[in-house]
Amino acid sequence: MRSELYIDGKWLKPLKGGTFDVVNPATEEVIHKAPAATADDVDLAVAAARRAFDKDGWPRFSGVERAAYLRAIADGIRNRQAEIARLEVIDNGKPFPEADWDVADAAGCFDFYAGLAEQLDNNVEEPIALPDARFTSKAVREPIGVAGAIIPWNYPLLMAAWKVAPALAAGCTVVLKPAEQTSLSALELAAIADEVNLPAGVLNVVTGAGTVVGQAIIDHKGVDKLAFTGSGPVGSKIMAAAARDIKRVSLELGGKSPFVVFDDADIEEAVEWIMFGIFWNQGQVCSATSRVLVQDGIYARLLQRLVEETKRITIGNGLDDSILLGPLVSKRQYDQVLGAVERARSAGATIACGGGRPEGFDKGYYVEPTILTNVPLDSDAWREEIFGPVVCIRPFASEEEAVALANDSRFGLAAAVMSRDEVRAERVAAAFRAGIVWINCSQPTFTEAPWGGYKESGIGRELGRWGLENYLETKQITRFVGEEPWGWYIKPAETTR
Ligand code: NAD
Repeated sequence: MRSELYIDGKWLKPLKGGTFDVVNPATEEVIHKAPAATADDVDLAVAAARRAFDKDGWPRFSGVERAAYLRAIADGIRNRQAEIARLEVIDNGKPFPEADWDVADAAGCFDFYAGLAEQLDNNVEEPIALPDARFTSKAVREPIGVAGAIIPWNYPLLMAAWKVAPALAAGCTVVLKPAEQTSLSALELAAIADEVNLPAGVLNVVTGAGTVVGQAIIDHKGVDKLAFTGSGPVGSKIMAAAARDIKRVSLELGGKSPFVVFDDADIEEAVEWIMFGIFWNQGQVCSATSRVLVQDGIYARLLQRLVEETKRITIGNGLDDSILLGPLVSKRQYDQVLGAVERARSAGATIACGGGRPEGFDKGYYVEPTILTNVPLDSDAWREEIFGPVVCIRPFASEEEAVALANDSRFGLAAAVMSRDEVRAERVAAAFRAGIVWINCSQPTFTEAPWGGYKESGIGRELGRWGLENYLETKQITRFVGEEPWGWYIKPAETTR
């Protein structure tokens, strides 16, 4: 576990010397003191990133050269996959197999953007057909500049990869701030970048409080682009900061994602996808399957099977092989989730199972997997993100009703539908107002496919070629190839030539 910031290719103590506690959510023990940066450290990091971009030539490396660094980082992650996954478990609480999957995915993300960086060499110039033969024109793609990447705690290394990999592939340099709850793996990413001799200043990692370090990044005049994943209120602040300086901005915020199950669906398969959708990562997933709508004909049976299977989920320390659900990330998140369940109960919801702290745990931020029924449509439980292992389930009668209920949300991140009727499934998929739609499944996430939300779930798309676009500007270069200039002010006959 590292105790220094990674700035300009060097490991540095924060200038003011601060630290903050890293707590293992399974045991509540302080396992490390992480470096607490301040605005002064952010100044150093941005200066290094600026120099790497403006003077040292990272944007002028060929895509093939940048790709070689990205592939080396991918290999570096894979070489230490189990070690980094273990760090994620003691930092975030998630079960080890999930962390292992995330770390492998993060390596894959660096490989994927290495491929796009290589292609960029050939695709950077696009000829533009003009209606005037006196001119030729081309559009050129260039990196935006210094990117400030601010990420959450639910997928610590993976969220870093989703931003750092496309940014570096595009030729941007980066100042990365991980969430204060989970800083360990981002510092390991810096160590890997260092090992592969990534040029100094191309990737800088500053850890610390959002209100201090994050705020300093979003306010910094030297940052050209803000890339954020996290809560809506902080997303608004980031957009406001971006608006002030006309910084480029991409936001991936929360959701309240519906899953519509028609009565021709296989109940067992539906239960599996619902459980994967809401209990994976303790439900701390922006696209979590948090609102389930089930057609009348199978509602009772599906609910019964869901409750039965949910009660069988094994809970415990993520390092224990036999568990499927770990603790929530922090005391704050634990309090918020249990508070949301209590408010749902007061609003009239029924707790079909779970709803509290599991028995037998004196320590750790554990919350039982919870199923809520009879949740009023105007309650917070139905409308707001809970970000924990809590699912609301309700019956519907018609397709029209299901689509209306699904879309009745200020969010629009993800939505899913299950039906054996392919035409109906496609029709419902088309009707969803959401950026990510799954048919007959929920949550599979591929680095190749665009990820992001409609409405208050965000702006812009990560992953795939869309993720690279986030870090590119477009420049037109138009050349005059005619015989004479316009002749608007100076007539050709008047010229002295
Ligand atoms: P948050 O939005 O407060 O934190 C996300 C990141 O933003 C962290 O790195 C944090 O340090 C930073 N940050 C906080 N204040 C900042 C500021 N003023 N300027 C710049 N950066 C700042 O999220 P949280 O407190 O960790 O979680 C709160 C809620 O956010 C959760 O309950 C959940 O609903 C939601 N959330 C969503 C996602 C997602 O993937 N969409 C991820 C995590 C949390």
